[in-house]
Amino acid sequence: MRSQRALRVLCRDTLKVLDLDLPLDVTQLCDRHGARRGRPIRLIAHPLPAGMPNGVWLAADDADYFFYQANTSPLHQQQIIIHEFGHLIAGHQMLGAVSASALTAPADDDSTAALQRTCYADDREWEAEMLASMILSWAAEAADTVGTTPRNDDLRGIARLLGGHKGWL
Ligand SMILES: [Zn+2]
Repeated sequence: MRSQRALRVLCRDTLKVLDLDLPLDVTQLCDRHGARRGRPIRLIAHPLPAGMPNGVWLAADDADYFFYQANTSPLHQQQIIIHEFGHLIAGHQMLGAVSASALTAPADDDSTAALQRTCYADDREWEAEMLASMILSWAAEAADTVGTTPRNDDLRGIARLLGGHKGWL
C-alpha cells in the first residue's frame, strides 16, 4: 500500500499537467486525463443494482469506462466518478476482458459477475478514497485562491495557478 505522501505525489503529478478550470468539473478532469494519455475515459450513468458498487471502472479495448450510479444526486455522482478516477490513476485495474455491453444488461449473469469482481481489497479502497479526497480538497483550496472571478481569464486554469499555490499540491 502506498503512503499518503506517495499518493499526494501521484495526485499532483496527474493534476498539474491538465490545466483544469475551476470549480472542478469531473467531466473535464476525465476528458483531459484521457486525452493526455491517448486513451479516453467515458462516463456512463447507469442504474447499478442494489448491493453493487455505485461505480465501476471497466477497461475496454478502446477506452476506460466509468459506470456510475444513475439513481443518486449529482454531487454523489461526482464523488463516485472521482473515486473511480482514483482507482484508475493508482493502477487498480481489475476488469480487462469484459465488454462494455456486459454491464449495460444488469439482468445478465455475466454483468453481475463482472460487477462482483469490482469489489477491491480494503487497501485499494483506501488508496482510491485518499486520492479522491486529495483531488477534492485541492480543488476546493485552488478555487478559494482564485476567488469568485471565474470570468477573469488570467485566473482561470489550474496550471497557471499552481506556480503560486501554497497548498499541499
Ligand atoms: Zn472503490
